[in-house]
Amino acid sequence: MNYKSTRYAGKAETGSAEAIRKGLASDGGLFVTEKIEGFIQGDVPLSDMDYPERVKTVLGQILGDYSLDELYSYAEAAYNSNSFPGGAAPVREVRNGLYALELWHGPTAAFKDMALQIMPRLLSGALGKTGEKRTVLILVATSGDTGKAALEGFKDIPGIKIMVFYPEDGVSVVQKLQMQTQTGDNVKVMAVKGNFDDAQSAVKRIFSNADTAAFLNENGCFLSSANSINWGRLAPQIVYYCSVCGDLIKENRIKTGDKVNICVPTGNFGNIFAAYYAKKMGFPIGRIICASNSNNVLTDFIRTGVYDRNRDFHLTVSPSMDILISSNLERLLYCIAGPEETSRYMDDLKKYGKYTVSDSVLKEIQKDFSAYYTNEEDTLKTIKKYWNECAYLCDTHTSVAMYAAEQYRMETTDNTPLVVVSTASPYKFASDVYYALTGKRSSSGLEAIDALADETGTEIPYPLKDIGSRKIRFTQSISVDEMDDAVRAFALE
Ligand SMILES: *Cc1c(COP(=O)(O)O)cnc(C)c1O
Repeated sequence: MNYKSTRYAGKAETGSAEAIRKGLASDGGLFVTEKIEGFIQGDVPLSDMDYPERVKTVLGQILGDYSLDELYSYAEAAYNSNSFPGGAAPVREVRNGLYALELWHGPTAAFKDMALQIMPRLLSGALGKTGEKRTVLILVATSGDTGKAALEGFKDIPGIKIMVFYPEDGVSVVQKLQMQTQTGDNVKVMAVKGNFDDAQSAVKRIFSNADTAAFLNENGCFLSSANSINWGRLAPQIVYYCSVCGDLIKENRIKTGDKVNICVPTGNFGNIFAAYYAKKMGFPIGRIICASNSNNVLTDFIRTGVYDRNRDFHLTVSPSMDILISSNLERLLYCIAGPEETSRYMDDLKKYGKYTVSDSVLKEIQKDFSAYYTNEEDTLKTIKKYWNECAYLCDTHTSVAMYAAEQYRMETTDNTPLVVVSTASPYKFASDVYYALTGKRSSSGLEAIDALADETGTEIPYPLKDIGSRKIRFTQSISVDEMDDAVRAFALE
């Protein structure tokens, strides 16, 4: 299948390996398949397959430059029982008709592992396929979870270096510690003074800086991204939406022909776009519910057609969703409005921090998407409620989606089986989860992990068990203006 930039009106000519190698298109747009091609009648026997086979089947449709054998071997290496002891994407019944798709059983206890355990393998495959000899320097701006998951995925991969920037005051104690203690000889981690959008915008500027590119090239390096703007991140996320449909059929929760609604705690719009893509490929997904925290720019957009980032930025208990520019929304705009209109919207966003889609585009979006948001108080209350009523312990991000799902059901009386995407282990945000349950603050994020285990009798996931005793390696903090120099310096190391 051919790939093109969301902003390019001409014919698609880029292959999947090249799209993954480059990360971002040269005109600043994101790579996307020219159209979404489905399975014949959406009728694929995923139910009978294990997870690596599902990966092979679904990605085989999308990533034409890779053989089915390659895809299968990458998937087996990525999603095995050492890295995912609890299964790759298990679905759990929370209560009748309400399910949690748990995507956090991997090496960093959050859902970004689902993409980042396989993406480095796709990228290193892409280097061979495109004849690339230079070292790749992966540059990541992270709101917390991406950074650690990327570091774990890329550490010690030959031919690749990885540099991660995180906002100094925008990540949890545990997230910070996870990154500061990262092992591997090809990694660098730095704190940035500013919020996530500041760091992400600076990374985007570095990507489009021709001088930096020339400097790196002279030194045998080039930049690529592991952010969810890279298609190699997005494509593996499509698989678990197809997978959950297969599992629900296998467990007789739904019948062939039935639909499921999906509710996704959303930040950069990558995860939820993957749900849309799976639906358009023919999987039985009904409504896609976009759940936001108080940074509810997407709720307003999906309801009114006005995307306006000119608003207060809130630091919340679900920090991985504290985002005012949802980059992957551009892919949805491309699918619905085409490249010319998408370019105009993105120009407006750059110039005014705001754009308004046409009525017909808004109507199309609303055919598939609903949107709700959850404030801080309801996020905490919802954690307690599901623990008390269903013995289901959610993290703060999952809780935002649980509450959004409730709002949707109340407003619509639509009782279609509903899958809430659970994006992090409650232990990753133990301090706030413990507070939600008990009303008490433990003295540190680390103590909260043990306190939460004592309080609930649930198991601490393996990546968080000995976190306090690891050696801190990275403590440097820089301003946004110093990031470009830091990248150049790391290239020379
Ligand atoms: C990244 C993240 C999200 C948001 O996902 P997007 O793809 O950015 O929309 C939600 N929850 C957690 C725990 C995350 O790490």
